[in-house]
Formats: sequence, C-alpha cells, structure tokens
Amino acid sequence: SLILGIESSCDETAAALVTSERRVLAHRLATQESEHRPFGGVVPEIAARAHVEILPSLIEEALAEAKVRLADVDAIAATAGPGLVGGVMVGLVTAKGLALASGKPLVAVNHLEGHALSPMLSEPDLAFPYLLLLVSGGHCQLLFVEGLGRYRRLATTIDDAAGEAFDKTAKLLGLGYPGGPAVERAAEAGDANAVPLPRPLVGSPEPHFSFAGLKSAVLRARDGGAYRPADLAASFQQTVVDCLVNRTARALREARGATALVVAGGVAANKAIRGALTDLAAAHDLPFVAPPLWLCTDNAAMIGWAGALRFEAGLIDGLDAPARARWPLDPDAEKVRGAGV
Ligand code: ATP
Ligand code: MG
Ligand code: FE
Repeated sequence: SLILGIESSCDETAAALVTSERRVLAHRLATQESEHRPFGGVVPEIAARAHVEILPSLIEEALAEAKVRLADVDAIAATAGPGLVGGVMVGLVTAKGLALASGKPLVAVNHLEGHALSPMLSEPDLAFPYLLLLVSGGHCQLLFVEGLGRYRRLATTIDDAAGEAFDKTAKLLGLGYPGGPAVERAAEAGDANAVPLPRPLVGSPEPHFSFAGLKSAVLRARDGGAYRPADLAASFQQTVVDCLVNRTARALREARGATALVVAGGVAANKAIRGALTDLAAAHDLPFVAPPLWLCTDNAAMIGWAGALRFEAGLIDGLDAPARARWPLDPDAEKVRGAGV
C-alpha cells in the first residue's frame, strides 16, 4: 500500500510518501529552527502557526516528487501525539480534511511508534524483536520491540530526556539552539576527561536513566570558571555516552531473543553515541542498526511507515481521533511504575 505521512509534533513540519514495502518515494521537511532560535527553545504558538503556513505546500511537493496524486494513496497517516498539542492538531486536522475530501482512511500515529519503527526503513532485514534505545528531545527509553503495537518498556528516565539534557547544557554553555548538534560540534575541540562529572544511576540494578543531576553538575563546573567550554561539552557528552551504554548493557540482559540493538530518535544522530553503541552491540554479538541522520530526527517518512504497518494490520482511525499531548507507548509500564517514571 501507499501512505501519505504527515508530521508536526514539534518544530519540524514534514510530509512523505511511503510504501508498505519499506520504500520512501518522497520526503519533504521544513525546520523552524531559525524561528525559535532567538528564544533558545521551541515556542509552541510560533510552531503551530509555522506548521499551518508550510504544511499544505510540503504535501503538494511530496506528492509531486513521488509522482502520485492524492487519489493514488491508500491511507493518510498523521502524528496524533505525543507532542506540542497545537502543532499536532495542525497535522492531524490537515490529514482529516484530506481524508474527508478523498474518501481515504485516516491512520492516527503515535510519534514514538514512528521513531521506534523508523530503523526498519533503512535496514530492510531488521526483524522483530529488537532492543531499542529511543533517545529524543522528550524521551529516553529502552523498549523491547516485539511487534507492531507491542513495546515493552524496560527503562525510562526518572527526570530529563537525553535530548533535553543536550539542549539545556548547550544553553548554559551559550552554544545555542538546537543544543545536540551544537554540543557535539563544541565537543570535537574538547577533552572528554577534563571535567569530572557524576554518572547518575550507572551500575544500578534497574536500567533507568537520570540526567538532571548531570546538567546541574555542568552548571557548577561552568560557574567554577576553571574549564574551557569545549572541555565541558566533551566531558558532558562522554558522560551521556557512558550512561546510555551502561544502561543499555543492563537492559540487554532482559532482552533475550533480540535480533539487533537499535537506536532511534534525534539524539541517535550523535556520532559519539553511535560509535559507543556499535562497540556494545559487537561485544554482545548483535547487529547494530542506526538510521541515517535524517531518519533519526523528526520526519514524516517514519510516520508514513508506522501508518503503513497499521493500515496493513487493519488499524484505521475515525475522524474523531484526538490530538494528545501525552501518549505512552507502553501504558502497562506507566501503571506499574507510576506517573513520570
Ligand atoms: P520526542 O520525539 O521525544 O517527542 P522531539 O521530536 O523534539 O522529541 P527529536 O526530533 O527526535 O525529538 O530529537 C530532537 C532532539 O535531538 C533535540 O533534543 C536535539 O538536541 C537532539 N539532537 C539532535 N542532533 C543531535 C546530536 N548530533 N547530538 C545529540 N543530540 C542531538
Ligand atoms: Mg526538532
Ligand atoms: Fe521526535
């Protein structure tokens, strides 16, 4: 089947055409980075308005690039959450309008499911089950991905997400927005062993993450005045790498039968993190799968792909599908561990 995917949950607006044979026929993306940069972070009202302005033309461009018409698609898939609800609503309402006008079914996609399944697009042989480290702006989780809709959460962050830690650290080092790429660039000229920083939860029996204390430690080290920003950035990045690797190694013990170690989400664009996970997978005799950078950060191809799998499974949604600010992938884990953990 052929699916039109739409993404608008944060600060990228995107449209893509994807087939259930894992082919991306077209993908278009507009980032709003320059509009949010003066504010040092995403401003929800600005984001929603920018989505409204650009989304229709992105969809037209994607259809033209794929050389298909709306009448040729089998379903329209849009992110329905989690994310900034104003932005989510823009993409979802647009998808509903197109569905109504064309008579095509709507598929409401969980943005995290999009990230979780995105590595299948770049790795045709990737099969369930796999252990996924999902590291993005709002999430830091280890998921045992057993199949479509079957995500067993083995770990999550008890405070900040990994991407959030990069963004906050970039801000307090004056490196600008978005923080991840800025910290990575600054770290290239720094010494990763220069600044002693705590490694929260490393070695703990539960595989959870914690990054809030790390950010505070970077702030104290900065205010101490003894370190160069490049050394602070490099030491921070190395600490995140160590935490992610230690926690992922812990979760591998619970992920028996996994066919691969997989990383996804915007932070998976980081080269130091990719390198360390490559070594970890090799040490466990597992293939390592990391999508290309454009598939790691927000995009519509991953939404189209998740939509294709859902459509093929008969999982279509009504035009009353709600836009959700919160939408956990593994509700059972939320019940057991309580809100926020
Ligand atoms: P979520 O998917 O949890 O709703 P999001 O959609 O905002 O959040 P993504 O677009 O997947 O998140 O990822 C954005 C995050 O990735 C930002 O926090 C950004 O700083 C981080 N990031 C992007 N590139 C890099 C990099 N090279 N190194 C580290 N972090 C990075
Ligand atoms: Mg973004
Ligand atoms: Fe995302």
